[in-house]
This record gives sequence, structure tokens and C-alpha cells, in this order.
Amino acid sequence: MKKNDRKIEGYIVWIECQHCNEKFPAFTFSGDIDQVTEGLGALSCMTDPEIIISELTASEWNSMPPEVGIKKFVQRVSNLLDRDDLILPVIASYEHSETDDANFQEFLKKYKPSMPVYKCIKCGRESGRVIRTISPSDFKAEGGAIQLVGKLSLKT
Ligand SMILES: [Zn+2]
Repeated sequence: MKKNDRKIEGYIVWIECQHCNEKFPAFTFSGDIDQVTEGLGALSCMTDPEIIISELTASEWNSMPPEVGIKKFVQRVSNLLDRDDLILPVIASYEHSETDDANFQEFLKKYKPSMPVYKCIKCGRESGRVIRTISPSDFKAEGGAIQLVGKLSLKT
């Protein structure tokens, strides 16, 4: 880990589309403060368990609407690596666990944090549910690859 590298941390979620059954990994950034993840993007390979993480440029990051900046970012990193199989998995919405318990204690027992619903990288439907969450090192141990583009180091 180089001293001047930007330290990033996060985990891998495996997503399964409930429409077409496609499975794909996505990197989720984590950190103590939101700013840690600002300007970072994680791409997934459309065919292999592979994650590519890089930084957005200021103009990509500030693009409005954000989809335009994401598109530019994906294009730039793809050109840099001479790839045409990269995509940035997008969270379409968050699903809240529902409970009809009137009792607050029961509610707390059953409460789960809201789960992201991803747009499927294959069929495009908003049907991608998280089926597993694993650490980057477990992802690699299972044959996954993580590539960092730029001055980045991944905490393991
Ligand atoms: Zn799908």
C-alpha cells in the first residue's frame, strides 16, 4: 500500500436478477464518512467476476444529470483499458423491510436495514437483489479479480 494512495474500503455484493437470473458482482464503498466515496466509481465486468475501481474526474463527478457523468466515466476507463465489457451497476431503489407489528419491540427485532435493488446488467430491469455480501479478499479467493486504476489502495 503506497503512502500517497487514496485508501478505499468496501465490500462485494453478489446480485441476482429475479427476472432473467443473471448473477453479477458489484463493489460497494464503505467508510466512516460519506466523503470517502465521493468521486469513486466501481465497474463490473459483464461476463466475468471482475471489479474495476477508479476515480471520476471533476467534470464527470459534477455532470448533470449524474447518468451523463457515469456514462463518460465508463467510456473513459473502458478506453484506457481497451475494454468493451464494463458496466457500472446502478442501484435503482431501496427496498424497505415491512412489518405490520404494532409492538415497537417486535418491530426492532424484525427490522432490517433497507436493501438496495439493482438494475440488472443483462436485461436492464430493476430486479437485481443482493444474494450475498463478501469481503474483497473472499471475492478474490473465490476467483474474482479487483483492479484499481489510478492512485488507489484497497483496504483488505
Ligand atoms: Zn436481468
